[in-house]
Amino acid sequence: MTQPRTTAELRALDAAHHLHPFSDTKALNDEGSRVIVKAEGVWLTDSEGNRILDGMSGLWCVNVGYGREEIADAVAAQLRELPYYNTFFKTTHVPAIELSAKLAELTPPQFNRVFFTGSGSESNDTVIRLVRRYWDIKEQPEKKVIISRRNAYHGSTVGAANLGGMAPMHAQNVALPGVVHIAQPYFWGEARQGETPEEFGLRTARALETTIDALGEDRIAAFIAEPIQGAGGVIIPPATYWPEIARICRERDILFISDEVICGFGRTGKWFGCETFGTQPDLLVMAKGITSGYLPLGGVMVADRVVDVLLEGGDFNHGYTYSGHPAACAAALANLAIMQREKIVDYVADDAGPYLKAQWSKLAEHPLVGEAPMLGMVGALELTPDKIGRTKFPDVGKVGTLARDFSFRNGLVMRATRDRLIIAPPLVISHGEMDELVARAKKTLDDTYAELKRLG
Ligand code: PMP
Repeated sequence: MTQPRTTAELRALDAAHHLHPFSDTKALNDEGSRVIVKAEGVWLTDSEGNRILDGMSGLWCVNVGYGREEIADAVAAQLRELPYYNTFFKTTHVPAIELSAKLAELTPPQFNRVFFTGSGSESNDTVIRLVRRYWDIKEQPEKKVIISRRNAYHGSTVGAANLGGMAPMHAQNVALPGVVHIAQPYFWGEARQGETPEEFGLRTARALETTIDALGEDRIAAFIAEPIQGAGGVIIPPATYWPEIARICRERDILFISDEVICGFGRTGKWFGCETFGTQPDLLVMAKGITSGYLPLGGVMVADRVVDVLLEGGDFNHGYTYSGHPAACAAALANLAIMQREKIVDYVADDAGPYLKAQWSKLAEHPLVGEAPMLGMVGALELTPDKIGRTKFPDVGKVGTLARDFSFRNGLVMRATRDRLIIAPPLVISHGEMDELVARAKKTLDDTYAELKRLG
């Protein structure tokens, strides 16, 4: 029998042959990647036998936790029955049909149709094409501009990266025309001195209205936003923000796209973030939690009023080989069956969410923490040298990375965006595991604080 490779051998092979996403390959290869070998519930195990609490659900996706035999069995059965078929040329298959109907049942009432994709990025590229097609069919082809927000994340394909408002991505990417970015509702980071959260929420929402007016409503196709910005740092908008956006979208002849790649499937304590915040999207973008990440799958729900127009337009010349992949649809169906049977969305809303928030909020008392927002199963810790003055560290991102590395060493996966630590644990996390998560986060803050003191 051949010996399994050692961690050192695995790292060397990884460094030699694998280009990692969003990574400085040279720096990573010098340091060596952590090799994750298995996972169960909310716990990861690495190749050296360390058990790590996954505070990020992988990449915000493993909503039902790791190790669900039921999903594995459903996928295996589907691979044996029909591993692949397309849905292009007047054909369909049972898993795509069943999942379409299930999504129509779970999403808000205006949604009855889904376009399947393989990821969140592909879903947002699909959205760009759907929105433009919609206005072309309505004989308003000049309506092409999509309004998005600075520091939004909508994916990594060229289309989705342009929709997104991530400055480091734009710096490496020739921007395409047709996307305009407005302010984000990031109170802690961007409010004016003396401005209340309510005032700030209204002011940032109204940037949508003034931008529509400045560019001309006859040129604006749509507004896209995440209910809570995820990769941007878990930015939970002030209470006044979404109602004002909803009013503007109602009054103006534009489409509203809710990017629910993170917020969808229970993360905010309802099935979808738009339900938590009371908005009425025309397009709803999904991925990640739809399968709990067990297989790649994405989709765009299209509201009836948009579908009615598309139906008049003939062929929509768009689609992916893996649109509605049978095994991915089978994984989604098994995942959603678990979520419904175990009432996981109710657990987030009524039990786990309030429980974690109560403890997490106390971390705001730590000298390093400016704010500790949390909603449902998603939260953040803003690290600051001066919580009263809402000051940022001079070398943005350095302290965040330091803390993130301490967190890993303390057996907890948190992610750092700039100097903001973020968590989004599996929705099924138990009370004992939440206690553990908060204790490890607290230790991480203490370690980071001590290190900063030591460095002066
Ligand atoms: N939209 C949002 C809100 C996301 O968070 C992400 C991924 N983090 C995407 C789109 C892109 O999804 P994917 O990585 O599956 O392409």
